[in-house]
Amino acid sequence: MDDNKIKELREKLAYESKHAQEALGDEILGQADAYCEGYKAFLCSVKTEREAVSFAVREAEARGFRPFDRAQPLKAGDRVYVNNRGKAIMLAVIGSRPIEDGVSIAAAHIDSPRLDLKPNPLYENKEFAYFDTHYYGGIKKYQWTARPLALHGVVVKKNGETVDVVIGEDPADPVFCVSDLLPHLASEQMVKPANKFIPGESLDLLIASRPISEGEGGDLVKLNVLNILNEKYGITEHDFLSAELEIVPAGGARDVGLDRSMIGAYGHDDRVCAYPALTAIFSLSVPAYTAITVLTDKEEIGSEGATGQKSAYLPYFISDLAAAFGKEGRHVMSRSVCLSADVNCAFDPLYPDVSEGRNCAYLNHGAVLTKYTGSGGKSGTSDASAELMATLRRLMDEAGVVWQIGELGKVDIGGGGTVAKYIANLDIDTVDLGVPVLSMHAPFEVVSKLDVYEAHKAFAALLARK
Ligand code: MN
Ligand code: MN
Repeated sequence: MDDNKIKELREKLAYESKHAQEALGDEILGQADAYCEGYKAFLCSVKTEREAVSFAVREAEARGFRPFDRAQPLKAGDRVYVNNRGKAIMLAVIGSRPIEDGVSIAAAHIDSPRLDLKPNPLYENKEFAYFDTHYYGGIKKYQWTARPLALHGVVVKKNGETVDVVIGEDPADPVFCVSDLLPHLASEQMVKPANKFIPGESLDLLIASRPISEGEGGDLVKLNVLNILNEKYGITEHDFLSAELEIVPAGGARDVGLDRSMIGAYGHDDRVCAYPALTAIFSLSVPAYTAITVLTDKEEIGSEGATGQKSAYLPYFISDLAAAFGKEGRHVMSRSVCLSADVNCAFDPLYPDVSEGRNCAYLNHGAVLTKYTGSGGKSGTSDASAELMATLRRLMDEAGVVWQIGELGKVDIGGGGTVAKYIANLDIDTVDLGVPVLSMHAPFEVVSKLDVYEAHKAFAALLARK
């Protein structure tokens, strides 16, 4: 056969994922870059689940969304949201088809790995004051030492008053850090396995070193910290008991690469899906199927609790939407489709051995469709049906989305999970779709601008399905 015929046959018959720029042409670059300016601004101002919900409420209200009220009737085109305790949110645009035809859902999580302050965090040791921490989610502890860190969160006083705290993001702010041992004296440390050489109890945040002036007695550096906090926020040491204070890498998102093709930032997992899931629902006017974007909490520690995806808040909301039309929630759920919008591992040429080349995701090859996650023989995962995979292939191809398949690593290497199985357990057809990430769960993760834009297009394609 001649070369042209071979090329033709290959394109017609063989699966091959391609660089999105090759698949779509150079015109896509400007669109993706422009879209990602919005994403970068979001990354700079939103680092915690609470900040993500505040952002979503503000942007949604500016676009005509209003708090969902069970007492009010609903009609096609209505835009409503439910704020779950300030840490998770569901937004819906009511569709023109009957609600019992099912809904379309894009569900991303807005918590990221970090260091949380313990309930009684403040102590002094040898004239330094520290915040004692308990890390949250899967981290490589050594990545969190010797780098600038910021403090984000809330303190809720006994009287119910909430104090918002962000220290370390404004260039004029101080930052914090976890100290590490100098290499000169680290010979014992350096031969320990990486999961041992920074013990969790040593991930304590250095916050001060000056005693309160003209003080007498012990712990004067700690007392100075309490005094500073009391003057600035009106809080006392007791108030840490009713606080959620999170330590995250300080600083915003940056373009990565001479060609500016990538974005480096803390917490792409999973804000890189949360942001497109938001822009996708904002892009709808009157969809055929009622569209829902869920931004959920606690995915990184197993989706537990009232604001995690194991909570009943999503089925309650769907039941309430169904009830507004005199229908049963479970009848709606069993005919619904959900994209569990989460990241996947991108093939890293520096660490090729953990991935299996025909089934892993590649940076720049578009949104990644992940049929199942789990580990060790598909343990602990939902597994999307062939029918659902076919539906998505069709939806994305019709919308011109560049996409690829991806498995999380080689079979026996490790694994992971997402919210997919919790939503699938509600009798909702669910599959993972998201963005490939380099250095996932590190303080500085890397994604491709093209992939972020293709994720937006993919979520929009599902939410706007006919
Ligand atoms: Mn994730
Ligand atoms: Mn994660």
